[in-house]
Amino acid sequence: PIRTRIAPSPTGFLHLGTARTALYSWAFARHFGGQFVLRIEDTDVARSTQDSVDQILASMHWLGLEYDEGPFYQLQRLERYHAVIDQMLAAGTAYRCYCTPEELDAMREGQKARGEKTGYDGRWRPEPGKVLPPVPEGVKPVVRFRNPAEGDVTWDDLVKGPITINNREIDDLIIQRPDGVPTYNFAVVVDDWDMGITHVFRGDEHVNNTPWQINIFRALGAPLPHFGHVPVILGDDGLKLSKRRGAVSVTAYEDNGYLPEAMLNYLARLGWSHGDDELFSREQLVQWFDGTHLSKSPAQWDAAKLLWVNAQYIKQADDARLAGLVATQLRKRGIDVADEAVLVPMCALFKDRCSTTVELADWLAMYFAPVTPSDADRAQHLTEAIRPAFAALAARLGAATWDKAGINQALKDTLAEFKLKMPHLAIPVRVAVCGRAQTPSVDAVLALFDQKIVMERLQSV
Ligand code: GLU
Repeated sequence: PIRTRIAPSPTGFLHLGTARTALYSWAFARHFGGQFVLRIEDTDVARSTQDSVDQILASMHWLGLEYDEGPFYQLQRLERYHAVIDQMLAAGTAYRCYCTPEELDAMREGQKARGEKTGYDGRWRPEPGKVLPPVPEGVKPVVRFRNPAEGDVTWDDLVKGPITINNREIDDLIIQRPDGVPTYNFAVVVDDWDMGITHVFRGDEHVNNTPWQINIFRALGAPLPHFGHVPVILGDDGLKLSKRRGAVSVTAYEDNGYLPEAMLNYLARLGWSHGDDELFSREQLVQWFDGTHLSKSPAQWDAAKLLWVNAQYIKQADDARLAGLVATQLRKRGIDVADEAVLVPMCALFKDRCSTTVELADWLAMYFAPVTPSDADRAQHLTEAIRPAFAALAARLGAATWDKAGINQALKDTLAEFKLKMPHLAIPVRVAVCGRAQTPSVDAVLALFDQKIVMERLQSV
């Protein structure tokens, strides 16, 4: 069976790049009826936090990337790694190295001075007939993988195509640190093997690690998974997307009013294509995603396009669901809407002109909190001359049936009384009541207000 995984390190939030790889891994497993596994790579003890694990889990859940197994934690598997290391030491595919950090520095400096490629020179690597240095006292050894000295490592990358590296180009990798904690390249192999992973999708930045990993798989007699290295995501400026260049965490987009299905759609399309399709559902993605049509070149993050995609999903979204999301956004501004049901028709009225639920909240706030028209709008529309018409309108509205038709009638009667045309009254009303000169149809907008608020705002001009 097809088995994929995502293996984030819990040293921060879920990065967009990791989310996209998770998405590909998930869709690939779903497409082939396989399983998707979540593994937390927490061997960097100093930088891993529970808070980060929680955030990663929450973001995965938000995106709907449900995993079939896990989360597995590497720190809970130390015994297993040690058992494998012992086997390798016994089999001669790994060895202890007692080099001190100072010795390694000197080694590197010497190599640099001689213009040689830097790397471990194999001084503790056992060879037939070679005499190893005496074991120094008080030095805790690392364990190194005995990388094959000759031959090529070749794999057919699912994204990049065939890749070949000569073993002479890679040195003997540390697989266990002096404190007994395994390193990434070793733990990842044991885990992918134990967890029966058949296809590994991960970021480009790991492509140089793959030859080591393949050699370790071989040394363990473990079946090789297929590898696919997905190119990086670049920011608008052509540099790698990073914190300094805007929001890079999934959580930030959730906070900023994006819908998870829009994020999923946009992230999937970023680096993968299905013809000209730009908008597709989760189900379509699963139906289409078979690991082909992944782009070889870096993807360009396009905030404007994401916003457009989100707007399309907002338009289609269920109003009651939007109401819940907007309530959360309003609460962040100190507006606590007791009955979320009142938000439902408001979302229906405004969602077509909004790209995010934050923008929806920008609109809906006027129903619950005082508005402040701009000075320009105030000067242009809230003039001395409009006051009598406002007073008359307020009186009529006070007596009107509070619905679109009743409000419309009050407006019309006031226009007739003051011999005004609709915009001459409707725009000032918008400015006074809504705080802005342009809104959807004024009767529809007013009907959703509390009647008293409208009258107060008209009378206080
Ligand atoms: N913990 C690694 C990372 O977050 C996983 C890489 C892999 O998928 O093998 O980059």
